[in-house]
Amino acid sequence: MGRLFRGLKTYRACLARRVIAPMAVIGVAAVGGFLAHQNAPETAAPAFAVAPIAQEARDQSVAEAAYDNDVTIRRGDTLISALLRAGVDHLEANAVVAAIKPYFNPRKLQAGQTISLHFERDQAAAATLAGLSFEEDIDRTIAAERKADGWSAEVKEVPLVRVTMRVAGEISDSLYLSAARENIPAPVVADLIRIFSYDVDFQREVQKGDKFEVYFERFASPEGRRTREGDILYAQLTLSGKPITLYRHAMADGEVDYFHENGKSAKKTLLRTPVDGARLSSGYGYRRHPILGYNKLHKGLDFAASSGTPIMAAGDGVVERASVYGGYGKYVRIRHNGTYSTAYAHLSAYGKGVRAGARVRQGQVIGYVGSTGRSTGPHLHYEVMANDRQVNPRHLKLPTGKELRGTQLAAFNAYREALDMEIAAIPLPYEVAALMGKK
Ligand SMILES: [Zn+2]
Repeated sequence: MGRLFRGLKTYRACLARRVIAPMAVIGVAAVGGFLAHQNAPETAAPAFAVAPIAQEARDQSVAEAAYDNDVTIRRGDTLISALLRAGVDHLEANAVVAAIKPYFNPRKLQAGQTISLHFERDQAAAATLAGLSFEEDIDRTIAAERKADGWSAEVKEVPLVRVTMRVAGEISDSLYLSAARENIPAPVVADLIRIFSYDVDFQREVQKGDKFEVYFERFASPEGRRTREGDILYAQLTLSGKPITLYRHAMADGEVDYFHENGKSAKKTLLRTPVDGARLSSGYGYRRHPILGYNKLHKGLDFAASSGTPIMAAGDGVVERASVYGGYGKYVRIRHNGTYSTAYAHLSAYGKGVRAGARVRQGQVIGYVGSTGRSTGPHLHYEVMANDRQVNPRHLKLPTGKELRGTQLAAFNAYREALDMEIAAIPLPYEVAALMGKK
């Protein structure tokens, strides 16, 4: 019995050293806690509180009685089949899996994953499984240990090291490929595209020579062997020379969003009414057409307003067309992102600088109410298109388009300025190269 007891202590110390040694090297505090613990009061304190040096001597005295063996999960394996292959007895394998189940679903094991096993020999030199551990995630280790009264399992949280990365580059083909060439990980590129999707139509708007910069966080396991990408903290796309900047910001209520430098959320809505003080004269739906005289689906909203009333862009975007378009008369269509575009018809004139390819801001005057084309009197015919098909603008479920004000804006500005300084202090790889070249 004394031998078994020593063996268990050794196993616990083994686990402890595996965690403590690399952490000491890079100076991370060993503050990992237990998320869950079952049936093991004597290990309520973190296992790595055991002094590793004092333990060395004990290890050697029982070395012949215990050994470690790893088993790698193969395709089609269950945890039990892998344990059996490693020489674990059937009853023992079932018992350890039952102990682990409250903390980990064994079906989530993936091929290639390694399970560390610890065996001990009894007086007759027969080896039995005494301990098992594996990384569920880079910050979660599942460990099980055989005690006098049966198997006990626990989850160990490994403190991760947070690092930030600043990467910039020029787009030579697609943002996706260009970012990958700068070694921006795929999940970060996907995030980059997602957070800019309210501002940019990636299919049509991104051109060769456009620039990008990303500042993102990454979490590494203490030994730096495994990493997990965190959030984008700052990103900038410069399209046709015009920068669009986003900051990730947590508001006082804990809600997190991406904001432009002026405190406007990246998630944008479209203006409900693109003309000030206009009256809705005809809604979306079937109606008797005033000129053609038969029932026809009216695929937009009509706003009655006097000729020359300014019309505003319903959202930020790029002008796709600003020219006469059949029965629509003088017509402007703006693409807001990969999904939405809006169109404005029967105009008397176009806004200043409004031509195909021009970038416009929400609220900018893009034209004036008129009666050009197939029209019975001055009004704006307004359409919203989702994936190039007209939809009822009144039924759109668009984000709220939050705008920070007052103390919220002040807090954001302070955070943004601090982040700008933090980023500016990190030289980009090509800046480092330029400095080295000067020496
Ligand atoms: Zn109409």
